[in-house]
This record gives sequence, C-alpha cells and structure tokens, in this order.
Amino acid sequence: MRYISTRGQAPALNFEDVLLAGLASDGGLYVPENLPRFTVEEIASWAGLPYHELAFRVMRPFVAGSIADADFKRILEETYGVFAHQAVAPLTQLGANEWVLELFQGPTLAFKDFALQLLGRLLDHVLAKRNERVVIMGATSGDTGSAAIEGCKACDNVDIFIMHPHNRVSEVQRRQMTTILGENIHNIAIEGNFDDCQEMVKASFADQGFLKGTRLVAVNSINWARIMAQIVYYFHAALQLGAPHRSVAFSVPTGNFGDIFAGYLARNMGLPINQLIVATNRNDILHRFMSGNRYDKDTLHASLSPSMDIMVSSNFERLLFDLHGRNGLAVSALMDEFKATGKLSVADDRWTEARRLFDSLAVDDEGTCATIAEVHAQTGYLLDPHTAIGVKAARECRRSLALPMVVLGTAHPVKFPEAVEKAGIAAVPQLPPHLADLFQREERCTVLANDLKTVQDFVSQHGNRGKPL
Ligand SMILES: *Cc1c(COP(=O)(O)O)cnc(C)c1O
Repeated sequence: MRYISTRGQAPALNFEDVLLAGLASDGGLYVPENLPRFTVEEIASWAGLPYHELAFRVMRPFVAGSIADADFKRILEETYGVFAHQAVAPLTQLGANEWVLELFQGPTLAFKDFALQLLGRLLDHVLAKRNERVVIMGATSGDTGSAAIEGCKACDNVDIFIMHPHNRVSEVQRRQMTTILGENIHNIAIEGNFDDCQEMVKASFADQGFLKGTRLVAVNSINWARIMAQIVYYFHAALQLGAPHRSVAFSVPTGNFGDIFAGYLARNMGLPINQLIVATNRNDILHRFMSGNRYDKDTLHASLSPSMDIMVSSNFERLLFDLHGRNGLAVSALMDEFKATGKLSVADDRWTEARRLFDSLAVDDEGTCATIAEVHAQTGYLLDPHTAIGVKAARECRRSLALPMVVLGTAHPVKFPEAVEKAGIAAVPQLPPHLADLFQREERCTVLANDLKTVQDFVSQHGNRGKPL
C-alpha cells in the first residue's frame, strides 16, 4: 500500500515511512492511495472472530509490503491481549436498539489505547528492523499522553517526552502518566496551558536541529496508523449487530475528527453504515461546518469533556481531500485560505455531499450532565461526559429506530469525576483493579518553564534512554 499527501506535493510513501513521518513535507496529511474494499461475503465470513483476528483482516491491506503477515498477527495478538475485557470492545445495551461500544477497557481507560498500544508495538518492530532510535514528543490535555506512554513504555528504541500543562490535568490523568516509570519515559509539566505545549511540539517538528539527527515521531492523530487502528472496532461492533446483512448507525463524540473519520473509512471499505453522527461539545467547529458550511476558527472554551476541547480539527483535511475529488492542489488552496483568514467554506455541491455523509450535533455542558443523569436514572449505567455527548446526539439525530444505533464509548467515567458529580450522581465511579493503587504509586515528572529552548535542551540531554543524544 502506498500513501499520498492531501496536498498533493509530497512524495508517496509506504506504510513504514508513513508510520515514522508525521506530517507530509508539503504540510498535508497522509492517506491511502487506494482504499481496500471488502465484499459482503468476506465481511460476513468474519463474524465471531476474536478482536485481534478481525483486526488482522481489516488492517492487512494497509500494512502490506511493510509488515510481514506473521509479525503483524503476533503484534496484534499482543496489542489487544492487554485489554481488561475478553471482548476487547464489548457492546452494552442502553435502550431500544441503542448500544454503547465500550472502548475504555484498555490500560488507560480511553479509546486512544486501541491505536496507541498498536502504534508503540509497530514502532518497536520497524525500528528494531532498521536498527534506528527515535524520539517522540507529544502534547496532551489528558488522554493522549497516558495512552502514548503506556503504548511505548516497552519500546527499546523509543524515548518519549509528553508535555502536559502543569496543574491543569486531573489527578487521575496525571498519575496515569507520571507513575509509569522507565528510563525512556519523560513526563514534562509545562508552566503554561495546553496550547503552549502543542506549540512547542509543532516548533520542534519544524526545526529538529536540537535532536542531533535523531528522528522525531508524532503520536497525535495526524499519524495515519492511529486512524487505521480505529477502523477495526466499527467492523467489530457492526458484525455483532447483524452486519453485513443489516445496516448499523454510529454516533461518535469527536474533537479532531479522527475517530469519526475512521468510521467514514469503514463505510467506504464496504461496511453498511446507514448514518454517521458527528457529536461535539461547545467547541463545535465541525457542527458549524456540517450545519452551515462554516468551518471558522473560534476561541477555545473549557468544557466538562476536555478531550474534545479543540479549536481546529486536524483530520478534517482528510475529508476535504475526498470531498474535492482527491485534488491536492484544491485542498492546499483551501488550507492556505484557512491559515490566512481562520475561515473556510466549500462549494455548495461538496457541502451537500458532506451533509449526505454526516449528521451532527453540538452539546453543551448542561446537556452533557442532563444526559448522564437521564441515562443513569433509566438504566443505572454511568456515562463519561464524552460518551454522554454521543448518546445525546444519537437520540436527537437518529434516522431509523429499526436499525441499531451504536454510540462510541470513548472513556471510562472514573477519569472525569467532575462531570459525574455535576450530573448529581452520588455514586463515585471506581478505578478498575489494574489501577486500584494508582494513588499510592510513585510519580516521576519534571516541571519546566514555558520556554522552547529549555524544553529542547531537556530533550537533547535525556533523549537516549535518559542520557544525552
Ligand atoms: C481523544 C478523545 C475524543 C476525541 O477523539 P477525536 O479522534 O479527536 O475525534 C473523545 N473522547 C475522548 C475520551 C478522548 O480521549
């Protein structure tokens, strides 16, 4: 499989190089040159497969030519073997033909484990083969950092530096990062906010001199491997609910358009999905586009669903590419316009196509808490605030009551106790057994000034298993 840039000017790469690439050299994002398409018979034959075996069949075309079948099978078995639940991604019924796909049974209790557990192992495999070491730098407002550290902790050839805003992530989220000890794991608390952290990552990608030749790798969802891993659970859920002989709908709490884009790809690969709902919080740039063809940058609002607090959705560019007939120059012009003005809209026929593909809803904090309370009262089931937004959007936008509606359950409620409390629920969610002693574990973290040079010096002093590069 070859991958091309959404801006049409960067060389095509194979899977291995895309895994290590981050952004394309023309500023675009990599997408597969040709999407595999499965037949109804093929999909039907996968019913009942264990998660890792289904994952092998769905993802195999994407890694073809770079990862040998036997290696890929072993990596997938290991990856999904660390999930707490036997089903890996169990479905729980909430209401009539309404389900939550629990994507929070992994080590860090959020769906990002599905991609980052795999990404770490793929990196380890590819780097061992090439006899190369890399540095990862990432910024996190909570969930990505812990999932990336968990995914990379056993990687011999990776040093990982995760920056979070000092005193601005929840204690559970901080401890999930800082209690993972290893000479290749570096937690940095920046005396600044999340945007400061992200800016430092971007600046480091733009000018890598401080790394003395060591390659820098991205772990945010611009990395294609993350999107790829997320396609699998759409197949997994739909197969259990009668696909490919019956269509299924999905409602997806989204910020960066990563998770829902994977659903869009699953549909293009032959999975019968009759509806895809984009569910956002008050940071609703995606809903503004879907409902009014206005993709306009707004200020950032802190919400009770912080993992969806974004101003701009980085993966949206991948959809724009398809909406424009995969014309990289058209996308490039649009993104230049967006960079200059903070605004973007598309021609009417392309917007009509986007609306045919997606429904959308924005849900504020009040609506989030009301949904947590409503579902708890109806069923006793406790939603996290992100999943609650998905449930609310599913109930508002649903087109057919006769077809199953699956809401992606993106996090465990224990990670977001504030929202649960604000919803008026007395029962405090409990940490699962593998994290029960989280508050007793030793923490390791370095507090650094909000200053690029200070951070880059720290990385070059510690980037080789804690020693200088
Ligand atoms: C990251 C995250 C999201 C948003 O995912 P995108 O890929 O950005 O759409 C939603 N919920 C939770 C809990 C997350 O951690």
